[in-house]
Amino acid sequence: MQYDHILIRYGEIGLKGKNIRKFLVRLQENIQYKLKEFSNIKVKRTQGRMFVLLNGHDPYAVMDKCKHIFGISSLSLAIKAQNDVDLIKEAALFALQNSTDTETFKVSVKRVNKQFPIPSQEMNHVLGSHLLTQTTNYRVNVHEPDIEIKVEIREEATYITSETIPGPGGLPVGTGGKTLLLLSGGIDSPVAGYLAMKRGVQVEMIHFHSPPFTSERAKQKVIDLTKQLTAYGSSINIHMIPFTKLQQEIVRVIPNEYTMTIMRRVMLRISEVVCKKESILSMTTGENLGQVASQTMESMHTINEVSNYPILRPLITMDKKDIIDVAKQINTYDISIRPYEDCCTIFVPKSPKTNPKRDKASYFEKRADFSELISETVNQAETITISDLDTMEKSMEDLF
Ligand code: ATP
Ligand code: MG
Repeated sequence: MQYDHILIRYGEIGLKGKNIRKFLVRLQENIQYKLKEFSNIKVKRTQGRMFVLLNGHDPYAVMDKCKHIFGISSLSLAIKAQNDVDLIKEAALFALQNSTDTETFKVSVKRVNKQFPIPSQEMNHVLGSHLLTQTTNYRVNVHEPDIEIKVEIREEATYITSETIPGPGGLPVGTGGKTLLLLSGGIDSPVAGYLAMKRGVQVEMIHFHSPPFTSERAKQKVIDLTKQLTAYGSSINIHMIPFTKLQQEIVRVIPNEYTMTIMRRVMLRISEVVCKKESILSMTTGENLGQVASQTMESMHTINEVSNYPILRPLITMDKKDIIDVAKQINTYDISIRPYEDCCTIFVPKSPKTNPKRDKASYFEKRADFSELISETVNQAETITISDLDTMEKSMEDLF
């Protein structure tokens, strides 16, 4: 005997009223897509849940892949048995004996199919005593069992599950539109991207680099961070923006204390052009209130003036420590702390103004024709598609 199904439960999707179908179809497609390396695997939707039909594949390997798919609230390995008492007994015994660290158990039968001759309560006893007589090292504990063997008797068959592991939660990627993530090589923006994806949003990246002042390795860092995030969705595009000329012009005409502010405003203007080109309706940053000079209330007010696109800032109220915890959990932290400098660190003065004003920023910007330079820069953008294949291999390499 072997586990032949994975039971997938989704939490929040259930609240989506009339749109529920869209969410379910997308979740089903996302699961099917993530499991494409396993031939013949099928994902089925039934009332209130989904099943992955394993078709002989290693249940643990498949379960591992599913752990990253947003929209899944929890997962269990399952055995499908015909609606026959002996077969159900056999499957329940398998589930118990294949659980880890178990001393006590409980059986919970749910008889959805009222044609099945034995009522739920009675079936609990039938199965419970079967498990006790067939084994020596387990006890029943109905209040706090180490494991609950769940037996759901449905029309078509009975499903037996035991251990339940948590899924990542969130909503299926692709149900929440698309955002352009301003991805630096730092710790924060990849976490912001992860959190946007968790709410069902697909991401494209924009990265500003300043060759030859920033190195190829700084660019590689951004590629590696993106690759890591593909684990939660599919392939991701990066728009690499050559920022050197603009930065040099900013440094040349703008007073020192406003260079950082203007640089950010120009970044937003370029991002908006890319959004329009790619039909993307919002931007996302890793900004976090009060962390650095560009992230004060005044700075955000002044920087934000140049675009009326919604800017998602998933980290805005988080503590640094909590951001780092997420970065470690999603394996972007070790990439982010590689020491290569990004464009901002190179061109920005040591003490930028923490309370820049909108009117002053606009006034200084008139000193150069940034619009012209912005169009020129956008035309020189290089777009790289980062495939989601071999994401796992990559993260394994990073470990060794
Ligand atoms: P991060 O850790 O994401 O670099 P940070 O704490 O260093 O953030 P800033 O340097 O002020 O903060 O950057 C704020 C946000 O601006 C970043 O989170 C990112 O979204 C965006 N950003 C900064 N530099 C770049 C860049 N070179 N390319 C694209 N986006 C950038
Ligand atoms: Mg940074």
